[in-house]
Amino acid sequence: MIKNNIKNIRQRILLATERCQRDPKEVIVLAVSKTKTTSDIKQAIAVGQDCFGENYIQEGVEKIQFLDNSDLTWHFIGSVQSNKSRLVAKYFDWCQSVDSIHCANRLNYQRTSFQKPLNILIQININNEQTKSGVSLEELSVLAEYVSQLPYLKLRGLMAIPALKETYHRQLTIYQKMSEAFQELRNTYASVDTLSLGMSYDMEAAIIAGSTMIRIGTAIFGSRIKE
Ligand SMILES: *Cc1c(COP(=O)(O)O)cnc(C)c1O
Repeated sequence: MIKNNIKNIRQRILLATERCQRDPKEVIVLAVSKTKTTSDIKQAIAVGQDCFGENYIQEGVEKIQFLDNSDLTWHFIGSVQSNKSRLVAKYFDWCQSVDSIHCANRLNYQRTSFQKPLNILIQININNEQTKSGVSLEELSVLAEYVSQLPYLKLRGLMAIPALKETYHRQLTIYQKMSEAFQELRNTYASVDTLSLGMSYDMEAAIIAGSTMIRIGTAIFGSRIKE
C-alpha cells in the first residue's frame, strides 16, 4: 500500500507541475512518518523515499537510531520546546520549525562543530492563528538575518502549516503570499532554496504557488490513529 501511495503522490506531482509548467524535480516529497513504525518507513525506503519528517522528538530519535542509515535525511517538523532542542540539534539534519531567536540560539549552541550545519526553515504563521507557532511575515526579515549569521545553522528557507478547510482559490492566494516572501528571501541569501508548503490535502495549490517541498503523511502511510 505504501509503495502504491508513493507512486500516486509522484503522479499527482507530475500533473500539478504540468499545469504550471514547473519541473517535477523541483518538488521534494518529505514523508511524514510521525506515529508510524520503522517497518512502514522501510517500505517507503524500498521505493526510493529518503527523507522523513517527525514531530515528536523522542519517537523521532528512536527511529533515527534504530534505522541507523546515513542515506536518510531527517527533518524535525514539530514545535521545538527548549528542553528538546538538544536532541533536535544532535540527531536531525533539518529543523523546519524555528520561530524565535531564542530557539535559533539554542540549536546553534547545541549543534557540534564536527556535524554539518543544521538546515533551518523559519516557520511562518501565515493565517496569523493564535494557536499556531511561527512568526508573521513582518517579523521574518529580522529572524532570517539573525539565523544567517549563526555558524552552526544554515538558513534554507520557509515552512508554513496553513489553516485547514480553505477553498482551493483561497489556498492559492495565501500560498502566493508565502511564495513571494520566499522569492525575496532567496534573493537575499544564497543558501535559501526551500519552500516547505503543502500536505496531503493541499499539495496541488502549494505546488502551483511554487512550493519546493511537500510534507505528506496520510496520503503515504494512511491515517493516524493517535496524534
Ligand atoms: C502531520 C504533519 C504533516 C502531514 O500531514 P498529512 O495531512 O498527514 O499529510 C505535514 N506537516 C506537518 C508540520 C505535520 O505536523
